[in-house]
Amino acid sequence: MQVPFLDLKIQYKSIKNEVDTAIQKVIDNTAFILGESVANFEKAFAEAHNVKHCIGTSSGTDGNHLVLWALGIKPGDEVIIPANTFIATAWGVTLCGAKPVLVDCHPESYNIDPEKVEAAITPNTKAIVAVHLYGQPADMDRLKEIADKHNLILVEDAAQAHLAEYKGKKVGSLAKAASFSFYPGKNLGAYGEAGAVVTDDDELAVKIKMMREHGQSRKYYHDTFGHNYRMEGIQGAVLGVKLKYLNDWTEGRRKVASKYRELLGDVSEVKLPVEMPESKHVYHLFVIQVNGDDLEKRKEKRDALQEFLKENGVATGLHYAIPLHQQKCFNYLGYKKGDFPVTEELAESGISLPMYAELSDEQIEYVAAKIEKFFNK
Ligand SMILES: *Cc1c(COP(=O)(O)O)cnc(C)c1O
Repeated sequence: MQVPFLDLKIQYKSIKNEVDTAIQKVIDNTAFILGESVANFEKAFAEAHNVKHCIGTSSGTDGNHLVLWALGIKPGDEVIIPANTFIATAWGVTLCGAKPVLVDCHPESYNIDPEKVEAAITPNTKAIVAVHLYGQPADMDRLKEIADKHNLILVEDAAQAHLAEYKGKKVGSLAKAASFSFYPGKNLGAYGEAGAVVTDDDELAVKIKMMREHGQSRKYYHDTFGHNYRMEGIQGAVLGVKLKYLNDWTEGRRKVASKYRELLGDVSEVKLPVEMPESKHVYHLFVIQVNGDDLEKRKEKRDALQEFLKENGVATGLHYAIPLHQQKCFNYLGYKKGDFPVTEELAESGISLPMYAELSDEQIEYVAAKIEKFFNK
């Protein structure tokens, strides 16, 4: 049996007519950049996350940058981000000319550990980026408390967490502003590059909207700095169609996660992801860890498991095999191996299982059976 890590073709087949029609309409109207399809999607996406404003962007990375740029982050500033995240969280900071300051993740939520944030604050710290990694919201109440106490701006990177909830509230509505990614493999994926910024702040929304389009207040009147961070019309059209199904697909992902839990719950060699009591996890990724005492042996075992699954037709991923502080591009920050032990443990012992709404029970059973077989060999 073949179990891909992600299968976007099944999803496309289920909505082909609607998507094709929506794309054709954009072409018929030659509304290639922003336009009606993007405006309609922005409105619907804002409603889905219970926020006032949504500004469609060219990618999630660009959204990360826009948020911090519009909030005035500049050279000399420091911004706290988790060590355990995709690198684009850090680009939001470096593109402002500011310095990313890393904080280790929590051993259960895998998100930034609020108890380790205060030690990273300096007089230059201006903001904290909370990432809702793998689809689980960060501990926003604790982070908000710390941000308020030290007069810092708190923002969200919700690239992996469309429709996720923290204490009954949707991500995107939990801080000053949030960015989302619609990279095709994300829970809500475009048919190309796309992202969005959401906020409840009217003034900030106006500013971000200008900055997305060359800092224009109207055509050729450039009131502020900006860039070309606009969303394409075709992406707005595709996303508009897909958003209607996102609830169902999210429930589908959660069902896959429960099934994995049911089947792998007794396999003592692996640690399953923990769903925090205050969260509704949307399982962008289902990351398990290979247990054991010695991290080097766990890494060997994890690599062997990945190879074994591959030989048996099951594709897996490593999120993220090399943490930010061990990336060459961040040598200048001066971190070393051992600085973020929880993140490093996850990098060396974690493995992401196939995860998408259309996975069949047979496929999930097959993956679980192969994992059990590997440990009983
Ligand atoms: C995917 C992702 C991004 C970047 O999104 P793109 O649309 O690929 O630019 C940012 N942050 C996180 C946590 C992501 O997973």
